[in-house]
Amino acid sequence: MTDHHESAATACACLPAWPALTAVIEGTVHPVVSAPAHTPASALYLARCTGCGAAYTGPWKRLNTSSRAA
Ligand SMILES: [Zn+2]
Repeated sequence: MTDHHESAATACACLPAWPALTAVIEGTVHPVVSAPAHTPASALYLARCTGCGAAYTGPWKRLNTSSRAA
């Protein structure tokens, strides 16, 4: 049943893929977006798809790093 690929990219089950990403940084969930290059945060933490929970292994960056309160 499971369709296993050797691709380095983790499969996202959503359509379209990766509708939104979040990363848990020090126990707090932060919204993140894909980035052209790795950031210090993306090198340390793993982002996940908000839809299916697939791990996003590509580079990403945090949104609004300065704002803490909602
Ligand atoms: Zn997904």
